[in-house]
Amino acid sequence: MKLEKPNFAAPKDADARKAIPPVVCYPPETLEKPDLSALSNLRKGARKTAEVTVAPRDAACIDVPAGAFIRVVSVDGPQVGDLNMWHTHDLTERFYSGKTRALHGTHLSSGDRMWSSFPNMRPMATVVDDTLDWYGFDEFGGSVHDVIGTRCDPYTGRLLSGDDYHYCCHSNLTRALSGHCDLPLHEAEMLVHDVLNVFMCTGFTRDTGQYFMKASPVRPGDYLEFFAEIDLIVGLSACPGGDCSSEHSSDAAACYPLVMEVYDPGEEARAAHVQPARSAYDRSHGTR
Ligand SMILES: [Zn+2]
Repeated sequence: MKLEKPNFAAPKDADARKAIPPVVCYPPETLEKPDLSALSNLRKGARKTAEVTVAPRDAACIDVPAGAFIRVVSVDGPQVGDLNMWHTHDLTERFYSGKTRALHGTHLSSGDRMWSSFPNMRPMATVVDDTLDWYGFDEFGGSVHDVIGTRCDPYTGRLLSGDDYHYCCHSNLTRALSGHCDLPLHEAEMLVHDVLNVFMCTGFTRDTGQYFMKASPVRPGDYLEFFAEIDLIVGLSACPGGDCSSEHSSDAAACYPLVMEVYDPGEEARAAHVQPARSAYDRSHGTR
């Protein structure tokens, strides 16, 4: 955090330097835009082929073939979900929340892509529907579906409180991936990564730039839906923070289940989908 009382006096031209307008780091204009109306048409012919309920303070994984849709649904009560994505055939290709944030901003909605880690860096999924898109940004600078948080975890809990809590999203996702892929627990843990915070309402305080959360505006029936660009394993944890209005990393908050549903437009339609290629960068890193 910045010092309340700086140690160094401001230079004479401080105001002029601070008045320089910002430029967007990664202007997205050159990114290929998803054809949302074509995806919407494709979705009309899709039928539900799989569903999993994620129990409160637990996680589950589900397989989503390339060319199908996955919907994360709020049921029963306001609940935040921590979402991970892996390429089914190479679990080291996983969702890269930091780069997704750099390209699309702090909070995702329809039309944004979920990018994969280096050296692949391709869209893993496209957000196609978001019933909370009306929320925009509130007066505190908060919004929903962030890619700024990491995931609640037992290590930070241990650091800050000295306690061990085993049902943080990091541990929930670790158990779920380990079970789904029949991997040793600690091997699975190394594949868990920073999340998309589905339904979570977050931002940065305007005065100190601190990460904040507030009660999620999600209500039962709300959903966030993605189109799978490649074969995916999607992991979702029903965060122990519940609606994240007060605290996480404990059993204190009211928690509710979440549901993941897969909608399949059919084998022929899926076969017609052209999967995004991995990054064309030659990976020589200046050695040639
Ligand atoms: Zn969590």
